[in-house]
Amino acid sequence: MLSVFVEANCNRYVRDECRFCHVYPPLSEHTRSDWHMTPDEARLMADKIRRVDPLNKLAKKEINLTGGEASQNPHIVEIFNIFKTLSSNVRLHTNLDINSEKSKRWERLVEITKLRGRIDITLYPTVWELRQKTLLSKLIGLQDGLIVNLIYESLSDLLNQLTILLNFFNEQGPEKFHPVLDLLNTFHARLKELVDKKTGCGEDDFLDHMGDFKNYVSCSDGFIFAVNAIPSFYVDPKGIRAMTSLPFPKDIYMLDCTAIRGAIEIMTILQTGEMTPCCDVGNLKCRPKFGNLLTDSPEVILEKFEASRKLMASGSLKNQQNIGNNKAGEWVDEGIPPYCV
Ligand code: SF4
Repeated sequence: MLSVFVEANCNRYVRDECRFCHVYPPLSEHTRSDWHMTPDEARLMADKIRRVDPLNKLAKKEINLTGGEASQNPHIVEIFNIFKTLSSNVRLHTNLDINSEKSKRWERLVEITKLRGRIDITLYPTVWELRQKTLLSKLIGLQDGLIVNLIYESLSDLLNQLTILLNFFNEQGPEKFHPVLDLLNTFHARLKELVDKKTGCGEDDFLDHMGDFKNYVSCSDGFIFAVNAIPSFYVDPKGIRAMTSLPFPKDIYMLDCTAIRGAIEIMTILQTGEMTPCCDVGNLKCRPKFGNLLTDSPEVILEKFEASRKLMASGSLKNQQNIGNNKAGEWVDEGIPPYCV
């Protein structure tokens, strides 16, 4: 999968549009092209992806347009069409924190569903009732699938988010969404057993308890649903992520870097063109880059793949030694995060 950032995490927009930003007058002359991807940059990236075999293969499987907030990009429909020339499976991830159907952001999402792109969301309980719920109800009528990310700080928090989804799909039609409700009910019941025990379990216990639970399901009319539960992390004022997640504070949350072993499963491409071979959205601060899709030639990109892979492999060995020697959390010279192995 290619995870392509079409927006920086600028946090300057006011929910429905960028009003105090360079996109619109009077700031528009102070261009910050590194914040919003332009169609020309998207074309350059698509052309380069076609010429770098490992990227082309990942693109064919799936391209996920994300950010920042992807729907905020005023050119997102055109950008979607450009990436669609590489893959029949282009998705867009949104926070769906949109005021109303009159918003340009919502109109862009509707356009993309008409072009057979799929929109996925992260659930935000704080804005669920106010904004997400109504638009999600519309969205599932426009497309034949949905992935929902649940980012949780504790198991009780995850349980609450599952309850929100259960109530929602019950309201949308228990018959149509019967398999979705079955899946959510199973997840909820297993999790509730753990929460009721109040043991403060570790992540291994949590995963053992979930057993053979599958996080996706198909409905009889072809609607495909998946739910991803993602633990959240404390990030210090310097932007460095903690070694342990908030829900499982006793366990080091290791990242198994497949790129070190020569298998790239995800490539994150920032709007600046920088590439990291995992789901690093910038908060992991991994220094070895796999080249720059905008400025490097295909040959240079492939050379950087190999050079950075070797650097990461060396850093990973040191990380394993540090963890075994009570030095967990120390950053190694290779610049990979201390939990990557
Ligand atoms: S070393 Fe860690 S942060 Fe860097 S690419 Fe690998 S998994 Fe991602």
